[in-house]
Amino acid sequence: MSIKVENLKHVYMPKTPFEKIALDNVNMEIQDGEFVALIGHTGSGKSTLIQHFNGLLEATSGKIIVDGTEITDKKVNLTDVRKKVGLVFQYPEYQLFEETIAEDIAFGPKNLGLDTEEIKKRVIRSMEMVGLDYETYKDKSPFDLSGGQKRRVAIAGVIAMKPTTLILDEPTAGLDPKGRDDILDQISKLHKEYNMTIILVSHSMEDVAKIAERIVVMNHGKVALQGAPAEVFKEVDTLERIGLGVPQVTYLIRELRKKGLPISDNVFTIEEAKKELRKILKDN
Ligand code: ADP
Repeated sequence: MSIKVENLKHVYMPKTPFEKIALDNVNMEIQDGEFVALIGHTGSGKSTLIQHFNGLLEATSGKIIVDGTEITDKKVNLTDVRKKVGLVFQYPEYQLFEETIAEDIAFGPKNLGLDTEEIKKRVIRSMEMVGLDYETYKDKSPFDLSGGQKRRVAIAGVIAMKPTTLILDEPTAGLDPKGRDDILDQISKLHKEYNMTIILVSHSMEDVAKIAERIVVMNHGKVALQGAPAEVFKEVDTLERIGLGVPQVTYLIRELRKKGLPISDNVFTIEEAKKELRKILKDN
């Protein structure tokens, strides 16, 4: 399964004084099993783009091909597409509303008309996938949980639809550092242990450097750069021009290199920096 975007354009409120070109000739492809981060500052078109991946927004022009099916074709049944491509919105915990966690997660599968046994299986499995023990949490109110846990419940609700691709829009927004790390670890696990294709929307270079295999940088509705983190982070000037920059630790390492320290310039996370610095200390 892949998601292919060809010459995609999206215009909000066309032919009005408020007309806004949110996506302008976007071309990209996401392969089965990839972990791709979509990064860009506010208003660059990230949310608009991901809502095309499961047909929530209609393209003004261009094509989206999901798993070989052109979903921009009006005849396509979007329910099938939405089963394959799950979308976790920003602050998804605001959409929790049932009395218990298990009921909340069961909401989507119930709407699919599945039988009770299958619904229960899916709830247990998706809770396990986000690291919430079924017996401990099933009867609790989602409103009694911490911010990070509520978000896990919301993610479990999408996973219960058994998508092969999971899109998450700013999943760490508003969480404290521990909550951020927990959610990122959990997402990484969904990718590594459960082989889900992940599309992570973020504006944090630090988050993206830690977990993404490939980065797509958006700017003013266009793809500005794309590639492996090491390739993208080499484009410091372009990233700074569009107001993103590189991870803070990368700036630090660059300064140390300038001062003559024999350190690799491929350092984008604190962990990598620690390893490199230890190596240098050992050699001297
Ligand atoms: P991002 O997710 O990167 O912050 P968005 O996709 O939300 O960017 O927005 C891209 C552009 O489209 C912005 O200029 C934004 O103001 C505009 N926009 C987003 N949603 C709407 C909407 N519903 N109506 C009109 N303009 C919108």
